[in-house]
Amino acid sequence: MEKNTQKRIQTEERTELANELKSAFSAVSPFIEKHTSIVCPACEKVCCIDKHGRYESNDLVFLRPFGADIPDNPSDREETEPCRFLNEKGCSRERWQRPFRCTSFFCDALLKSLEDDNAKLYRAFVAFLQHLVYVRQKLLDYQP
Ligand code: SF4
Ligand code: SF4
Repeated sequence: MEKNTQKRIQTEERTELANELKSAFSAVSPFIEKHTSIVCPACEKVCCIDKHGRYESNDLVFLRPFGADIPDNPSDREETEPCRFLNEKGCSRERWQRPFRCTSFFCDALLKSLEDDNAKLYRAFVAFLQHLVYVRQKLLDYQP
């Protein structure tokens, strides 16, 4: 296959995967939000600290092609300060624009709340999350 053609196909496949990943974030978000709204208001050790709101290179692999507005990681803030994206309503970023760890981290209280929900809903959520992780890995595997 011609080199340019191969490159074009890879770019198309990457774009397709990135779109699929964005949809996967939307699919898992409502169930997570439902439960963070239950457990987070009473939390005594909020996990939304600056350290957790910082992007890793793998986050940018997905976000840059979308032209997402990704501010540089701040150098003037302590890791333990509240995350720069946190406001009085919670996280100001849509889920797909957050660092991946913000979707993949479940504290004990959150996990319990998720598991205690309707079993069918919970199973569907786990399947969506597994799909998200799978698509993300596939996208990352495309990188040189
Ligand atoms: S996810 Fe857990 S640790 Fe983070 S703010 Fe909510 S209850 Fe607290
Ligand atoms: S990006 Fe949002 S979810 Fe992630 S740590 Fe910051 S405020 Fe929390």
